[in-house]
Amino acid sequence: MLDKIVIANRGEIALRILRACKELGIKTVAVHSTADRDLKHVKLADETICIGKPSAKDSYLNVPSIIAAAEVTGAVAIHPGYGFLSENADFAEQVEKSGFIFVGPKAETIRLMGDKVSAIEAMKKAGVPCVPGSGGPIGEDAKQNAAIAKRIGYPVIIKAAGGGGGRGMRVVRNEEELQNSVALTKSEAGQFFGNDMVYMEKYLENPRHIEIQVLADGQGNAIYLGERDCSMQRRHQKVLEEAPAPGITEDMRRYIGERCVRACIEINYRGAGTFEFLYENGEFYFIEMNTRIQVEHPVTEMITGVDLIKEQLKIAAGQPLSIKQDEIHIRGHAIECRINAEDPQTFLPAPGKIQWFHAPGGLGVRWDSHIYSGYTVPPHYDSMIGKLICYGENRDIAIARMRQALDEIVVEGIKTNIPLHKEILRDENFHSGGTNIHYLHKKLGL
Ligand code: ADP
Repeated sequence: MLDKIVIANRGEIALRILRACKELGIKTVAVHSTADRDLKHVKLADETICIGKPSAKDSYLNVPSIIAAAEVTGAVAIHPGYGFLSENADFAEQVEKSGFIFVGPKAETIRLMGDKVSAIEAMKKAGVPCVPGSGGPIGEDAKQNAAIAKRIGYPVIIKAAGGGGGRGMRVVRNEEELQNSVALTKSEAGQFFGNDMVYMEKYLENPRHIEIQVLADGQGNAIYLGERDCSMQRRHQKVLEEAPAPGITEDMRRYIGERCVRACIEINYRGAGTFEFLYENGEFYFIEMNTRIQVEHPVTEMITGVDLIKEQLKIAAGQPLSIKQDEIHIRGHAIECRINAEDPQTFLPAPGKIQWFHAPGGLGVRWDSHIYSGYTVPPHYDSMIGKLICYGENRDIAIARMRQALDEIVVEGIKTNIPLHKEILRDENFHSGGTNIHYLHKKLGL
């Protein structure tokens, strides 16, 4: 096993990683900004190092400071969590060049999948179904672009190859808008992502977002751990996730899961990863791969019993996968609510001091969070303060437990989106299951 690792993140995921390390007997180094001295995992870590000022670029994105922290503490590996540097191929490369293990795939894999055009190409080759599209970058030639759009069929979507976070996309409904939209998306992509390559895809009108969790050891073994439904979104940001996805049969799961596994082996994938799909009229369409652990990973843990962070650490230590595909059994249902410090009406972040906090509990209730009474949510980072995960033998029981847990949780002193979650949990269409990615927007009257 790894002897000591640097946790290059903050908040709930840093605490989640620390817990997995403690179970495996791995020593931990918490690196933190000056705004984060009071984080729970900082208090629980074996060693702590302040790596810079509050702004992320001075701390959690400060590559030399993070690598120096590993050097001075004698750590052997760096876990990037999610967000920040987790999908930065240059960082992964520098970590390995400096003699440390990056808990994640090889830099070249991150690079391959980080460019959506090359990712789609690799997926097609591996037999993963993709959205009908241009099959490569598109240029400035109006005639050629019009011909591609005609072949795909309107509406189409122009997307930045280097895009992320729901930015750098534009829907086009007819030929008149096409050329202007290509030019605009290209210039935005250049500005935001430093890469103006764009491509074209069929725009799916009413899809669900369904994603497949995989684990691969980089030694020729890979497994899939079922799917998650993350269709409950606001501005492309996931709000509530569940596993399994309502209506997905064992056969469909196997069909798509096996293709993801084949893709992992073809690209020599290493670590935990997620294949994201749009799902419409019974078909899956690959949109992108996340080469890291995701916020919503606990719902998969609850229905499979596999600790994904521990598996990441074992793979990073060079161990072959210890779980076989036929040992993965999906049991029951899990739902996760992302609890954010934000105004439930305006959705604006609402940082500040938590005067009083009370955690929910009971059978099947899991609370992954770093907050406590008296903790001050800083204004510098993402507003998520915790994840409430409820498990039940079936979806109805999971929903009933979540409603109960949302009634029990108390966060006083700051505004949170708990009222929004209560509303979703009361929603009839949510109860039926299978709502699409626009549902929450429409429900909120946006
Ligand atoms: P990002 O990396 O910015 O998250 P994605 O490719 O994952 O970009 O797409 C983000 C979201 O944009 C999707 O969840 C979906 O809501 C929408 N989207 C992307 N591609 C399409 C498409 N071809 N048709 C319809 N919606 C799409």
